[in-house]
Amino acid sequence: MTELRKPYWLQSSKLGSRKTGEITRKLRSYNLHTVCESARCPNRGECFERGTATFMILGDQCTRNCSFCAIEKKRENLAAPSPEEPVMIARLSRELDLKHIVITTVTRDDLEDGGAGQFVRVIEEIRNHCEPDVTIEVLISDLQGRWNDLKKILKAGPDILNHNLETVRRLYPEVRPLADYDRSLHLLGEARKFNPSLLTKSGFMVGLGETCAEINDLLTDLRSQDVDILTIGQYLAPSKKHYPVAEYIRPDVFAEYRQAALRIGFKIVESGPLVRSSYHAERARKILKRR
Ligand code: SF4
Repeated sequence: MTELRKPYWLQSSKLGSRKTGEITRKLRSYNLHTVCESARCPNRGECFERGTATFMILGDQCTRNCSFCAIEKKRENLAAPSPEEPVMIARLSRELDLKHIVITTVTRDDLEDGGAGQFVRVIEEIRNHCEPDVTIEVLISDLQGRWNDLKKILKAGPDILNHNLETVRRLYPEVRPLADYDRSLHLLGEARKFNPSLLTKSGFMVGLGETCAEINDLLTDLRSQDVDILTIGQYLAPSKKHYPVAEYIRPDVFAEYRQAALRIGFKIVESGPLVRSSYHAERARKILKRR
């Protein structure tokens, strides 16, 4: 497949803010990772300016092999969870006066609890160190369907539970071979059942060869699990070795997807070529404040 030329609407000028440099230096000094950096997110300048950052816990090697993802893959002998990581994230979040903190992770199928314990420790440390009005969003793996580990995380009291479906059902075997579409859907439903006042969130990429009908099915499936918040962004291949971009979706089509999603009941929908999971994540604070 010949490589597609990137259209003008994917040119991003948001990188290099002063705050980006400051935050990147601080992350180094605290020996912390952000998915903003490892996924080369085009929005990190803007997000850092808005007081939002997405910390990646449990290392930067993943036990899964999603063909769209730039993160290093490794099946065994991965580093043990860092005991310092939870307090370091809490201290840096306080130092940066972050208002909305997103905690994400690689998938650690090698750990007995899939990393749930580390999420609990991070949430607890943030609650101990930061202002009471700080909101916490956890973007978790599918925990291989172990709902007890999911409940462990939810009992720690995050404000938003996020789990990405990433793409449509038909493309799972090629794009997320070790994941399961229905398992990911049910995780979101289980979270809602466990805590009816919890905000749930999911997201997916477009431009991998999906059809509009498949997108509408995905939207309906997510709403069947009562998901509140949605992000839709353009897939960008990290390299020629990754799953190829099939199409660059026009901004007006993103707007149509947004309207279609709002019509079936999503409360917040971020849909656009440069949108990523945590883009404008702090907007959910408005809903949380009203609760
Ligand atoms: S599970 Fe997440 S981090 Fe791991 S390969 Fe897939 S997308 Fe990347």
